[in-house]
Amino acid sequence: MKKTTHATTREQASRDLETFPPQMPSRRVAVIGAGAAGLVAARELRREGHAPAPVVFERAVGVGGTWRYDDAASADPLGAGGVHGSLYASLRTNLPRESMGFLDFPFVADEGSIDPRRFPGHQEVLRYLETFARRFDLLGLVRLQTEVVGVRRSRVDGVGAGAAGWTVSYCSRKLAGGELQEEEEQSEVFDAVVVCNGHFAEPLLADIAGIGGWPGKQLHSHSYRVPDPFHGQVVVVIGYHPSGMDISRDIAGVAKEVHVAIRAAPAEMQSATAHANLWLHPMIECAEEDGSVVFQDGSRVKADSIVHCTGYKYGFPFLEEDGIVSVDNNRVGPLYKHVFPPQLAPHISFIGLPFKLILFPVFRLQSNWVAGALSGRIELPSPEEMMLDVMAFYSDMEARGWPKRFTHNLGVEAWTFEYQDWLAEQCGLEKMEEWRRVIYVAARARVLVRPESYRDEWDDDQLVAQAHITSSTATYGLASVGFSSLRGHAIKEFR
Ligand SMILES: Cc1cc2nc3c(=O)[nH]c(=O)nc-3n(C[C@H](O)[C@H](O)[C@H](O)COP(=O)(O)OP(=O)(O)OC[C@H]3O[C@@H](n4cnc5c(N)ncnc54)[C@H](O)[C@@H]3O)c2cc1C
Repeated sequence: MKKTTHATTREQASRDLETFPPQMPSRRVAVIGAGAAGLVAARELRREGHAPAPVVFERAVGVGGTWRYDDAASADPLGAGGVHGSLYASLRTNLPRESMGFLDFPFVADEGSIDPRRFPGHQEVLRYLETFARRFDLLGLVRLQTEVVGVRRSRVDGVGAGAAGWTVSYCSRKLAGGELQEEEEQSEVFDAVVVCNGHFAEPLLADIAGIGGWPGKQLHSHSYRVPDPFHGQVVVVIGYHPSGMDISRDIAGVAKEVHVAIRAAPAEMQSATAHANLWLHPMIECAEEDGSVVFQDGSRVKADSIVHCTGYKYGFPFLEEDGIVSVDNNRVGPLYKHVFPPQLAPHISFIGLPFKLILFPVFRLQSNWVAGALSGRIELPSPEEMMLDVMAFYSDMEARGWPKRFTHNLGVEAWTFEYQDWLAEQCGLEKMEEWRRVIYVAARARVLVRPESYRDEWDDDQLVAQAHITSSTATYGLASVGFSSLRGHAIKEFR
């Protein structure tokens, strides 16, 4: 793949809100979603000189995506029910803030912080993303309360399918005087579409034998907000990833007993539970009509509720008619490096599909790659070569015995930083700093051994100091976003 050599010079010249001179092809681009991925995609597209500026469609009332806490959960305790947010009230980040932020817009505590902790509550992340949007003047690009309901190729004879244009259909729904006003569906044609719709909204449920006859209540973590409804109950929580760990402890504070069903060996993790009323078990064997939940080791409890902390499904309902990608057991494909459908690249792309890695910096790199591919600054391989790469990746997974649902899981140790380093190289951008890598790996290890306290106890202060020194070498003018003083941690754009 051809790399650019002039990207850095161009980008340095384009500091802040300026765009590149329009020497390269400029595209009219639609971005779907204004979460962390959509916001940084919009910034990178505009910086690349794509004009007019991208249009960002966002169905919520504000930007921030997942990080907009929504008190109202879905009416269907096991379904999405049109609710995007999956945050619970007590949620704090599961990564230290200095590792989580965009490389060129550090997530450091400042005077405007509402929660300066190293692992802050969700409100602080939303504040950070809103500040990012204001800092880069992105809010004017976002059409709020506007849901994309269809994306289809507009075919023109003799022109490549992707290049012929994309018709984006959308509906505006606005609350006015307490009434929901829905405008008629409208359509606009764009040269390219960047999909940033998030993938933590559509619940994935555990398949439990006998659950049909089991009399208790069930809930997916998507709809969990506070522990109060579980007061005095016996609760089974399925899953022990960050949400399962948090929610089981949240509930243990009010419930009679909490039993967590996990895939890993419970015996190894039992010592980590400081709650006297919280137990770890192997996965569930079956549920019975008398209210029993039976675990694979033969142990059983009579439970009042089951909480599924079992993850989410990818979904692109607005693409369904056109067969642009398919979703099979949480494999979205075919996608070259998780971003481009080979036959349609670079005219449609997907930002934010990988998980188990440091997300925000990866969103930025993917966005820069897309923006550069659309302008011609970065050359992609041929569709055939991209497809061969995808097939080789699938074969490799199969040879290792990994299920399809692992396709976008980049948390496998050997891959943790390979993907972002590769993207950085394509884009001609700097690789992620060493301190950030070390902090991230150490934080992930601490979650497993100290799930109760990993957010408040650590032993890598030296690295934190290094992170802050790096941030303080920056030069952003912060007055416009209210960062008058940053306790020595200035913010800058560095590449
Ligand atoms: C419980 C939980 C805890 C997490 N904790 C962390 C953490 O500690 N650290 C971390 O780095 N990450 C964490 N994450 C991951 C988090 O999802 C990412 O940090 C990031 O916010 C994802 O951004 P996104 O833009 O890809 O998706 P989202 O934030 O989901 O944004 C997608 C946006 O698209 C909009 N949208 C969707 N469909 C349409 C449509 N048809 N039309 C218009 N708009 C649409 C949505 O309204 C939404 O605003 C957590 C996730 C969850 C669920």
